[in-house]
Amino acid sequence: AHDRVLPFPGWELPGVFTAGAAQALAKGERVVVGDRVVVAGTGPFLLPVAASLLEAGSRVLELLEANPAGTVARGWARRPWQLATHGGKTGELAEYVALLLRHRVPFRAGRTVVAARGDGRVEEVVTARLRPDWSVVPGTERTVAVDALCVGHGFSPQLELPVAAGCALRGTPGAEFVAVDDDQRTSCPGVYAAGEITGVAGAPAARAEGALAGWLAAGGASDAPALRPLRRARDQGRAFAARLAEAHPVGAAWPGWLRPDTVVCRCEETDYASLCRAAGNAAGRGSHIGKLETRAGLGPCQGRICGPTVAQLTARLTGRPAEGAPTAGSRHPGTGSRHPTSVTQHPPTGSRHLASGGPHHRPIAQPIRLGELAAAPEPVPDRSTSRTRHPKTEQS
Ligand SMILES: Cc1cc2nc3c(=O)[nH]c(=O)nc-3n(C[C@H](O)[C@H](O)[C@H](O)COP(=O)(O)OP(=O)(O)OC[C@H]3O[C@@H](n4cnc5c(N)ncnc54)[C@H](O)[C@@H]3O)c2cc1C
Repeated sequence: AHDRVLPFPGWELPGVFTAGAAQALAKGERVVVGDRVVVAGTGPFLLPVAASLLEAGSRVLELLEANPAGTVARGWARRPWQLATHGGKTGELAEYVALLLRHRVPFRAGRTVVAARGDGRVEEVVTARLRPDWSVVPGTERTVAVDALCVGHGFSPQLELPVAAGCALRGTPGAEFVAVDDDQRTSCPGVYAAGEITGVAGAPAARAEGALAGWLAAGGASDAPALRPLRRARDQGRAFAARLAEAHPVGAAWPGWLRPDTVVCRCEETDYASLCRAAGNAAGRGSHIGKLETRAGLGPCQGRICGPTVAQLTARLTGRPAEGAPTAGSRHPGTGSRHPTSVTQHPPTGSRHLASGGPHHRPIAQPIRLGELAAAPEPVPDRSTSRTRHPKTEQS
């Protein structure tokens, strides 16, 4: 997965970073993205990001959680026994809170950045109070002078490989994951999936899923006692992910922040007005027509960044589910939960196959330069089969 950032006026200005990029720079390179930084978006991931910025020497002016305190508290406080196994995360949370208090960083829930402004790079941000659906409360706008802004609205899974393999997905447009059963099997025979493509639940859950999928894919018995702790860790991760989704949903009214000239697809510089026009023209036609009209998603990132946003906006503008979305009567898990609490059947329930034009379908899974391909070491000839193989031929 990679960071998801919702568009807002000015989000394309230099100095506006994804929360993950800012953290990677601060933690990995000891590079600060700015001296006066606002961190905004939703989810507990904003806390370690703010902490890394502080430790690297930035001044974090505000930490803004878009969901109101009530939504966050209800999401985390419900069924508290399910979180009893996550003591480590509570300790981590306490450390972040202590750090924020020590540096006097104000934490504000129900407020977010709705615009960034500046001449050539970000110089100020406009923050506003939000209702639970993320519509702006008029008259609550405030301007803050900054030299950097970090935003994160959750994560988008990289689904091109499972989609290319034909695996069914679950979820709703903009929040789709590979559907797996209790043994990490996808709907595609012989294909297993693990990690964030099946739901964003953190590194320990991804590791447990990977070990489980690896064992079973290698022919290990599904009822082996060694798998019990892995399944337990995986299920705990899923419970945590479900909580995360309940406590930090993306409010449906965020498109209200957009202006006609707000860039939605950054590669092709498609603005919101073009998307609205295309949605009007494309009524009754396939969404690929809108894609060709606006070029949204046709640039170098091939919709990896704007894809979920364009899918959601198109569905909202046309009043129709995005292409490949579940049809009426088909089952799918609630929008809140990233993981079904229990998936025990195969093929997974609540899953669906994407049409070939689905937003995650990309003919090239990962673009690389020809020079990189040429410099790659020759593959070791595979001697495990009796068939004569020629590495050069296979490489070409
Ligand atoms: C900035 C950041 C900070 C984080 N901090 C924490 C933390 O503190 N605690 C925590 O629990 N979790 C954290 N996470 C989440 C954690 O990293 C993930 O939960 C975990 O790495 C997921 O493992 P994965 O195997 O699913 O995905 P990844 O580790 O991302 O591995 C997927 C791999 O697949 C490759 N890949 C994807 N698509 C293709 C393709 N088309 N072709 C070829 N290769 C492809 C990718 O390059 C990558 O190497 C953080 C994530 C980020 C981005």
